[in-house]
Amino acid sequence: MSGSEITRLLGGWEGYRVGTVQRFEAGEKGPQAEIWIELLPLKRRRMRCSGCGELVSKVHDIKERWIRELPLLDAKTWLLVWRRRVRCPGCGTKLEELPWVGRYSRVTKRLAESVGRLCQVASIKHVATFFSMSWWSVKAVDKQYLAEKLGPPDIGNVNAIAMDEFAIQKGHRYATVIVEPYIKRVLWVGRGRSRESIRPFFELLGPTGCQAIKAVAMDMNGAYEAEVRAWCPDAEIVYDLFHVVMKYGREVIDPVRRAEAKRAEGDSRTRKVFKGARWLLLRNKRNIESVDDRIRLYDLLDANRNLMKVYVLKEDLKQLWDFHYPKAAKRFWKDWYRRAMQSGIEPLRRFAKRLKPYVPGILAHCRHRLHTSLLEGINNKIKVIKRMAYGFRDDAYFFLKIRAAFPGIP
Ligand SMILES: [Zn+2]
Repeated sequence: MSGSEITRLLGGWEGYRVGTVQRFEAGEKGPQAEIWIELLPLKRRRMRCSGCGELVSKVHDIKERWIRELPLLDAKTWLLVWRRRVRCPGCGTKLEELPWVGRYSRVTKRLAESVGRLCQVASIKHVATFFSMSWWSVKAVDKQYLAEKLGPPDIGNVNAIAMDEFAIQKGHRYATVIVEPYIKRVLWVGRGRSRESIRPFFELLGPTGCQAIKAVAMDMNGAYEAEVRAWCPDAEIVYDLFHVVMKYGREVIDPVRRAEAKRAEGDSRTRKVFKGARWLLLRNKRNIESVDDRIRLYDLLDANRNLMKVYVLKEDLKQLWDFHYPKAAKRFWKDWYRRAMQSGIEPLRRFAKRLKPYVPGILAHCRHRLHTSLLEGINNKIKVIKRMAYGFRDDAYFFLKIRAAFPGIP
């Protein structure tokens, strides 16, 4: 079997044959063993212009280029590619198009694909170490890979959206993510959380696209709501369970727990029960798996009537999102409101009063059964992406990573 046949069988470099191959042991060129493979263009190959993709016949010049390939066995692998530039009647002087390497890329498509796949599960730093590449080249390769793989976002056939904000840097700059909630596809990500900053999405959607939107899930956020109402005449606003419960935790459970813990200061047994209680109280009851934790939660609630009340009312509040019939949900809400107002717990009364005007948006969930855990899931995933990609400072890349994490279920 000839060398070029072996190369072809292995899925090697189309249009090229192998020239000289050199191997350097660890320590000779770098800390790792290296293989250098020279690739020579096949003479009788039909060439295409990388500008327009048309067939071309004239070669302008040939230049050497060093391109990284996937490691071969144990060695870091470099290709020395004699790259042709062609003379295209339409585009002028252009690089010859090759199926296995991008136009200006310094890595083969195979390597780019591996880097991209690895970057889904590992940090840039780890991928860079693994391939012995620089942090910056891994980032550049992954960014290019994602941009090509994802293409422009598909915003057709959308009749419901869910939108949420997230922090880009701790507590400072914010961005907005907009998702198709049924198939979990990220449609758009943009800097900011004001009316103006989300406007480009609706402009992109166009009048017909906006008209098709029937439901929008969101946090109780005035800016989002105002902008949606201005663009989507038929859209109903649906408030998301996750945010309401988070708010309840911050505005009711936290202050009540703090006040009660303070009151228990003299009593060492009760104080011990309170320690680290926040986590238990905010947790979904179903997710508390360990028996010890459950006993601690019941101890805590036992020791304290007020905490018990706010805890039970939290669990009940969540049920508002389970109803199918608005009338039944409304009755349930009225009962919940009455219990909150009669609780004698000031933070709870305040919360109930503030929530009251938003109740129609909660009951709208009966008509549009959008996943209440969707925004929570996306929020958590974004946090993970941010951690893995720490130090980006590149919005475009960060947003591509978010889109890639939610490509939509076909
Ligand atoms: Zn051309």
